[in-house]
Amino acid sequence: MIPGARLVVLGKQGAGKGTQCVRLARHYVIPHISTGEMFRAAVKGGTEFGRKAKAYMDTGELVPDDVVIGVVRERLDQDDTKERGFCLDGFPRTVAQAEALEELLSPRGLDLVLDLEVPTDVVLRRLATRRACQDCGENYSIDSPPKSAWICDSCGGEVVQREDDNVGAIRRRLDLYEKETAPLIAWYMRADKLVAVDGIGSPDDVTGRLVRAIDARRARHA
Ligand SMILES: [Zn+2]
Repeated sequence: MIPGARLVVLGKQGAGKGTQCVRLARHYVIPHISTGEMFRAAVKGGTEFGRKAKAYMDTGELVPDDVVIGVVRERLDQDDTKERGFCLDGFPRTVAQAEALEELLSPRGLDLVLDLEVPTDVVLRRLATRRACQDCGENYSIDSPPKSAWICDSCGGEVVQREDDNVGAIRRRLDLYEKETAPLIAWYMRADKLVAVDGIGSPDDVTGRLVRAIDARRARHA
């Protein structure tokens, strides 16, 4: 069996992608690579890339392919991802990005692309109540807050509503997601890399489904 795993998790905003990627990263001992977190860190750090990315994120727009691919390429080039793999969260978002990823990963390629399926009305309700740690990005909600009032359980950072979690921006992101990722899902389906997983239920239930799907696929290729 090849150690680690090379995974992509797709799903609309609020489908629980971040939470599940953290869990998969622990399970398979691989880095969780969240482009959203990388962008937010760059914005916070005030880097040139951060300023560019912020202009797009503030309006709910996607950051352009060439910028995103450059950042991901740098991250995938590090030793931990080369040796163990990764769980990619927020990338690829377009067919052009998926093609660039295939090229970066050649010849081994991805193990599996998981599409976390959650209906839009459920996602809207989740996002309106979502809160996230400003420092590490850990997700909470009004229904499941951190143990002590809005201080992150993992790192002690401040837990807040993300600036881009307002209804207008959420709707724009969901519309963009549908428009941009429908061809991506079709593309991965044709490549026989895609498995759809039901994202409704407790985080443990969903993680169980994801791990079963990944292990079944890896057994097939072992
Ligand atoms: Zn934190």
